[in-house]
Amino acid sequence: MSDSDNLRLSFEFFPPKTEQGRTKLAAAHQELAQCEPEFFSVTYGAGGSTRDNTLGSVKAIQAAGSSVAPHLSFGGDDDESMIALLNEYKDLGIDRIVALRGDMPSGMGGAYQMVYANQLIEFIRKHTGDHFHLEVAAYPEIHPEAKSFDSDIEFLKQKFDAGANSAITQYFYNADAYFYFIESCLEAGITQPIYPGIMPISNYHSLSRFSMNCGAEIPRWMHKRLEAFGDDQESIKAFGLDVITELSEVLLENDAPGLHIYTMNNAEPTMNLMNELGLLPGE
Ligand code: FAD
Repeated sequence: MSDSDNLRLSFEFFPPKTEQGRTKLAAAHQELAQCEPEFFSVTYGAGGSTRDNTLGSVKAIQAAGSSVAPHLSFGGDDDESMIALLNEYKDLGIDRIVALRGDMPSGMGGAYQMVYANQLIEFIRKHTGDHFHLEVAAYPEIHPEAKSFDSDIEFLKQKFDAGANSAITQYFYNADAYFYFIESCLEAGITQPIYPGIMPISNYHSLSRFSMNCGAEIPRWMHKRLEAFGDDQESIKAFGLDVITELSEVLLENDAPGLHIYTMNNAEPTMNLMNELGLLPGE
């Protein structure tokens, strides 16, 4: 098992749009901060649609005493406004960014720039030098638009060659996919750390829909179990906790360098996982 002192934990939030959502996020942050993650991250809505909300959430988490990494993609922004946003983050003392291509949002048409993540990395390095630690996305089950397994790994390598420091994966429930991916990355000359992303399970239908869109596979046996629980939320949660606990244990026992949890702004499933893994404070 990886030494828990060296294990990197990070927790992801999305930026809420309402006052109620912001209150919920503040409470979730307060609870999760007890686990002393290396950083929290805040997603960036398709096409820059959450630009101000992401910045607002980043400021709130920072003011509450935690390190925070905004996610960033070009979307509707031009070069000048992107440089202004990077400088604003720099001035705030932010030193880590999760750099992404993002997806084409519906209804944005010509205003949207599909800038590949390696180009965004080059842009950030050009305008802010080595100031930011840059995280990028990686896909053990391969990005849904990728031409092939090999080309997706080549493009990941391009992101590192452009200056990325580490990667966080899309979530997956099949540990072998991650191990095979890591092996293939090593063969392709990628030596930077690749942190597995873990998605807690609390709602079968939304997980199923979301997984279809982002290319994450829910294994058949899990589908069958989850389907059979119907509306029994307690059983879904208990089963989900078992699944992600076992997955995290296998990953950490086999030298995954840490865990990135997609919290969905909900502290409970992540706290339950930390408890199962013996990673709560004082343990
Ligand atoms: P890229 O690395 O640019 O890859 C996109 C696709 O193009 C891949 O199929 C790749 O094989 C191919 N490709 C890459 N480079 C090139 C090139 N130079 N030429 C031709 N093809 C190329 N989405 C959001 O909207 N907001 C978020 O905050 C967000 N956070 C995320 C966090 C994590 C950890 C992960 C794993 C995903 C996140 N996403 C987010 C989703 C992500 O934006 C989508 O998966 C998007 O489709 C791809 O982004 P990318 O940065 O991986 O793209």
